[in-house]
Amino acid sequence: MGGDAPVTVQSMTKTDTRDIRATVNQICELAEYGCEIIRVAVPDMEAAQALGAIKKGIRIPLIADIHFDHRLALEALRAGVDGLRLNPGNIRDPEKVAEVVKAARDREVPIRIGVNFGSLPPDLPEGLSVPQQMVEAAMRHIRILEDLDFDLIKVSLKAFDVPTTIEAYREIAGRIPYPLHIGITESGTPRQGMIRSAVGIGILLWEGLGDTLRVSLTGHPRDEVYAGYEILKSLNLREHGAKLVSCPTCGRTEMDIVSLANAVESYLIRVNKPIKVAVMGCVVNGPGEARDADIGVACGKGKAVLFKKGRQIRTINETEILKELIKEIEQL
Ligand code: SF4
Repeated sequence: MGGDAPVTVQSMTKTDTRDIRATVNQICELAEYGCEIIRVAVPDMEAAQALGAIKKGIRIPLIADIHFDHRLALEALRAGVDGLRLNPGNIRDPEKVAEVVKAARDREVPIRIGVNFGSLPPDLPEGLSVPQQMVEAAMRHIRILEDLDFDLIKVSLKAFDVPTTIEAYREIAGRIPYPLHIGITESGTPRQGMIRSAVGIGILLWEGLGDTLRVSLTGHPRDEVYAGYEILKSLNLREHGAKLVSCPTCGRTEMDIVSLANAVESYLIRVNKPIKVAVMGCVVNGPGEARDADIGVACGKGKAVLFKKGRQIRTINETEILKELIKEIEQL
């Protein structure tokens, strides 16, 4: 992570970490969707003790999310986690912090400092803007680790407010050399949260900021992974699975394009190849986009013209469009 490495997509489980089977199942499902790093909440010792078995059941890096209790961090490290999300300043005793840092260093396990707008310390200097407060809070945690000669650090500065988040990341990027984990926190349900996240994360990525991302949604984490890749694909930063081009439909549409596009999208979620598929509603803009795609249809009344790699292949009946599209995609 960091440098020229691709920006990774990560998520967080929503199961009870103590329920090993449910947590492993969710992580495996997310990995199938492309999740590259997974974080789990570790609220108590029972959860920390489940990490070893969870780690054995999965194939992607496991991050333990820990607050306040250094014993949970030590147990997580013993269990073999690949990273910690932990703010050292929240473990008040310097000896306990040093113990965790030593254990992390011995295992070469990185620590992410994660500052959220909602949990800023009350004793920050006066006169700072909110983004500056977030940066200052992060710098305090960073200095604790650096003073212990630890530099396997990642940093996140998340707020619900998009401009605040962007300002905070811009500010800290000029001050530290560490990889940035980016995201908009508590961004809402998938409908609202995907848009807020796309705007915030998209702007940061476009400015060259961000080494890994998480889209935080009040919903199933598979939507977080899906949205993460869509953001990266929109900026041509990663290739992942298929792209669907579909027209918004209008008064020229003579077929149920919405249902067709949704059905094609559902199918494409599991297609693990960087192909472009077009579903277009008429013969005005349809053929141009359909030709530009690897596979495309321009639909008219009761039938559609099928395009493949820029060439018109054949005309198909309305009832056969989805089946024929899938057949051609499979062949491709
Ligand atoms: Fe309308 Fe045709 Fe454009 Fe679709 S492609 S929005 S049907 S003009």
